[in-house]
Amino acid sequence: MRRLGGVPVFCFMPGQDQRGVSSVVIFQSFILNVESHAGSIETELLCNISVMPSNAVVDIIDLSTHVMNLPQVSGRQVERFAHLGIATVTDLLKHLPIRYEQEHGESSIGDLVMGVVGSVRGMITAARAAPAGRGGRQAKIEVTLEDSSGQMKLVWFNAGYLRGRLHPGMQVRVQGKVTTYKNRQQMVNPRWEIIEEDDQVVPNRDYLRPVYPATENLPSWAIEKIIGEVLEYVGGQILDPLSKATLKHHAMPKLADAFYAVHRPACEDDALGARRRLAYNELLLLQIGIALKRYDCRHRLTAHCLHFSEAVDQQIHEIFPFPLTGSQQRVIGEIRVDLQRNWPMSRLLQGDVGSGKTVVALYALLMACCDRKQGVLMAPTEILAEQHYLSISKMLEHSTIRVGLLTAAASEVNRKALLRQLGAGKIDILVGTQALLSEDVVFENLAVVVVDEQHRFGVLQRAAFQRPAVAQGVVYCPHYLVMTATPIPRSLSLTLFADLDISTIDKLPPGRGPIVTRVVGSDKSRSVYQYMLDRLGRGDQAYVVVPTIEDGISGPSSRLKNLRQHTKMLQEIFVGFNVASIHGQLKRETREAIMSRFRAGMIAVLVATTVIEVGIDVPNARMMVVEHAERFGLAQLHQLRGRIGRSGDGRKSLCVFIADPSTEPAKERMKAIGATHDGFKVAQYDLEIRGIGDFFGTRQHGLPALRVAQIPRDMNLLQLARRDAQAIVKADPALANDDHQVLRQLLVQQFGVDIGLVQAG
Ligand code: ADP
Ligand code: MG
Repeated sequence: MRRLGGVPVFCFMPGQDQRGVSSVVIFQSFILNVESHAGSIETELLCNISVMPSNAVVDIIDLSTHVMNLPQVSGRQVERFAHLGIATVTDLLKHLPIRYEQEHGESSIGDLVMGVVGSVRGMITAARAAPAGRGGRQAKIEVTLEDSSGQMKLVWFNAGYLRGRLHPGMQVRVQGKVTTYKNRQQMVNPRWEIIEEDDQVVPNRDYLRPVYPATENLPSWAIEKIIGEVLEYVGGQILDPLSKATLKHHAMPKLADAFYAVHRPACEDDALGARRRLAYNELLLLQIGIALKRYDCRHRLTAHCLHFSEAVDQQIHEIFPFPLTGSQQRVIGEIRVDLQRNWPMSRLLQGDVGSGKTVVALYALLMACCDRKQGVLMAPTEILAEQHYLSISKMLEHSTIRVGLLTAAASEVNRKALLRQLGAGKIDILVGTQALLSEDVVFENLAVVVVDEQHRFGVLQRAAFQRPAVAQGVVYCPHYLVMTATPIPRSLSLTLFADLDISTIDKLPPGRGPIVTRVVGSDKSRSVYQYMLDRLGRGDQAYVVVPTIEDGISGPSSRLKNLRQHTKMLQEIFVGFNVASIHGQLKRETREAIMSRFRAGMIAVLVATTVIEVGIDVPNARMMVVEHAERFGLAQLHQLRGRIGRSGDGRKSLCVFIADPSTEPAKERMKAIGATHDGFKVAQYDLEIRGIGDFFGTRQHGLPALRVAQIPRDMNLLQLARRDAQAIVKADPALANDDHQVLRQLLVQQFGVDIGLVQAG
């Protein structure tokens, strides 16, 4: 069981015994203190659903039955279904056709219609196997079929298995799409069967045949057959969470009818309406999950309501070495309102690389300090944590606020001392890496949590942090601010991040030097470094990024530039300049020393792996070269580029991506990164090139598994579902009304553990 301390999370776990039978449905809720939250949704649901007996042998087929227990499904097919992401009957029913093919009833060969799936019966008058590849596997079988109205050709490719099975004189019925080849009608890879003596002519009925996403070994027609049979069996068990009135209002069919219609539509419109209903249903459940979480946050969780006054505001501003931009002021205003409430803030702060998110975060942390509470800032890498620690310490040099740093690199002795101070309230702001998530990191009075570059953490960790503090018998949850330089497209912010409020910094601080980006082939690298030498001579500093430290994995023959060799090579070219290298595997002290020497200008060229990707801030570094840029992701390249152009004196910086892209996506990435410097545009390209699933890494980030609905295509439905969900949760947050019982049950059944991830937000 995951412990998510503090945050009420509900988690649905379809259990399975050795046979994979879903006979157990465990409903677990992670509320910190069940007693003190008596009467909450979770407790009620816990009572309601609880654990269903696992010894009850499942002999009826229901919506949660595993496909392996369906008599229609063979052992081999189970695996193939798994490939399609199908485990249970519910998954099966949600496996929707990608399209439909109009199929005509049986006709004569002369009446076949081009381009339509037709069906004819006739006699085979000729059959031959065209020469096959080795092993006979690629054999092509050609057959001539005749009836009284004419003749046509039938062709099967890769059909070695048909060799010798089709002979002249056989009566067969075939079905397939009618095409022409060399002016003759033909069907390619038609379905066929031998006609028995007593076989009746199939009535001439047209049929809209569903075409399912299939695999080579599990063809669409097999899926169609199984779904058709299963639907007959379980159709009556499908419960509808929507009232008649709602159905009428939205002009939607009943849920069970929608399942029938989507798999066996009478017409295309029928199928469209059904799909709309199913997508809405899915989105509604998701949105209700999110709305419940939000409701929960507001009504059941308590946070420190932080004191604020003009004096506090002025005090904080005096700490910053520069006046804040309008954008920064605005988002600080939004955060300030949240922090003065007695329920926890959940806010996402998005802003392009270099937009100045750190001071905004610091403002929130300082509001905690001014109210004698603690704040914590978590960064994804040690280098970034160190950098935050240094810059924050520097700004707070003349204040009484005490800042601590905790990373995995801390020695046991230092770590113990630090934790003691932390527990005693002698550290006001703690900066660190994921090492902060360890059980023994206990604050005296934690009020504000800031997580930098969220996209590098899983969603789960987002929740794991919220270990609440107890004061005078009240459980306090911290306010929570997540920062990202990867802007979230609106379609995603309504689903994946819908439980977070969003603030956006949309303008960079003034005086940023423009960055010129060039994408060149590796044949140009010599002149690129020649030019770098030029700029070094003028006092600039530079980064050179390579993909690996050593050439371990790719072997000696690989041409991949690595840190060690490349550093050596550059040291030879840049005579008289100090060339050093840095990577994630170095000891912290070593890294810190290198970074501070680079910052001080004692190192001219820093050869690095992507450890410098985020947060590093050295104003005089005005040139960057990224070797093998085609190997990096778009967001990563944009982050890397954000390390330069930080001088504030308006002078141009240069970023050169050296790349020899060979695949289409890689070429597109190179084109995109050269075309824009706008992080929001980069994110949009990224989404387009990679698709939603890869944008954040589906699993890691708990992207809800939408089976029917498609974002952004179903944005309108999403908005509708969102409004409805909010209204439902507002009116009946415990889902206690009789009207909502089915809804509640479906929430448990359908989401499985995934809702737990969404909830973890
Ligand atoms: P990011 O949003 O990428 O985390 P940072 O917070 O690291 O950006 O800020 C980038 C740089 O801009 C830092 O050197 C920071 O000191 C500087 N900066 C931030 N805000 C301002 C401002 N209002 N005026 C001038 N410089 C600023
Ligand atoms: Mg940053």
